[in-house]
Amino acid sequence: MKCKLCGGTAVINMHQHRLSLCGEHFLQWVPVQVARAIKKYRMFGPDERILVAVSGGKDSLALWDILLGLGYHADGLHINLGVGNGYSAESQARAEAFAAARPGAALRVVDLAREYGAGIPELARMRRGRKACSLCGMVKRHIMNQAACSGGYDAIATGHNLDDEVAVLLQNTLRWSVSYLARQAPVLPGEPGLARKVKPLVRLRERETAAYALVRGIDYIYDECPHAEGATTLFYKEILSQLETRSRGTKEMFYLGLLDAREQQGAFRSDDEKVEMHPCARCGQPTTAPGLCAFCRLWAGGTKDTQGEV
Ligand code: AMP
Ligand code: ZN
Ligand code: ZN
Repeated sequence: MKCKLCGGTAVINMHQHRLSLCGEHFLQWVPVQVARAIKKYRMFGPDERILVAVSGGKDSLALWDILLGLGYHADGLHINLGVGNGYSAESQARAEAFAAARPGAALRVVDLAREYGAGIPELARMRRGRKACSLCGMVKRHIMNQAACSGGYDAIATGHNLDDEVAVLLQNTLRWSVSYLARQAPVLPGEPGLARKVKPLVRLRERETAAYALVRGIDYIYDECPHAEGATTLFYKEILSQLETRSRGTKEMFYLGLLDAREQQGAFRSDDEKVEMHPCARCGQPTTAPGLCAFCRLWAGGTKDTQGEV
């Protein structure tokens, strides 16, 4: 397998692009794809400040690396979720090691247990009946938004890649979760109190972000979170890869088809979609719930008093 550009030994063959590249050319190709996505979906401009949500995994570390390489002002945010068996400690260590090796890459760490009183496993036990993964998603969204707004960032960037997005899309389609289908996008515009959210890796596949991290020598955490609802997502990813094997480009077709159906054909649009938001009485973040937002309600019943901390 030879590099299409220089004839050297290729490190990756991307069937859907009919393109094999050597390490050097692959490291040039990836940022070009990301820069195109940023421009095409108008994610952010060259002077805006970006907060990259860094989990310690391959996607978000690759994303941070690419944005810094493209010359963006990109700082990192890592949330230590207090997941045991060394998972959270290792994740934080990877994010910190990455930042330490790059002067100018500022990383902020929010430790859930230390700052709010409990990590995800403890919270899930306290709030029996709530799955750790849905709690975790809500907690991460809240902390990311809080950090972006208080830090004056223009956008939060996450490492979601095409495989993540199509797996979620398959799930949302199977369930006909219309409100999610109406919102799943590379950019969610900001509103007062809610930071813009962007996914600059949406056009890259998981194996491409993994290859990028490997070739760049980025040390990332390989393990899935022990709580992960990973089984279902992995199953959907597997099915989509089988479809892709049969018919090249299926993933792009499925994902870009959603964007097109919505933007060009008005699918999933509803006039009464705008729900009323008001500031949470405790943290001030916009919420649809009467009184406290979902995050503040989590803590209202116990653990440390978080008044004024969020
Ligand atoms: P996940 O929800 O685990 O699939 O992660 C999706 C994206 O959310 C990652 O690519 C990161 O950008 C972000 N993320 C996940 N976990 C964390 C974390 N503990 N701290 C900061 N960002 C995170
Ligand atoms: Zn080459
Ligand atoms: Zn709140």
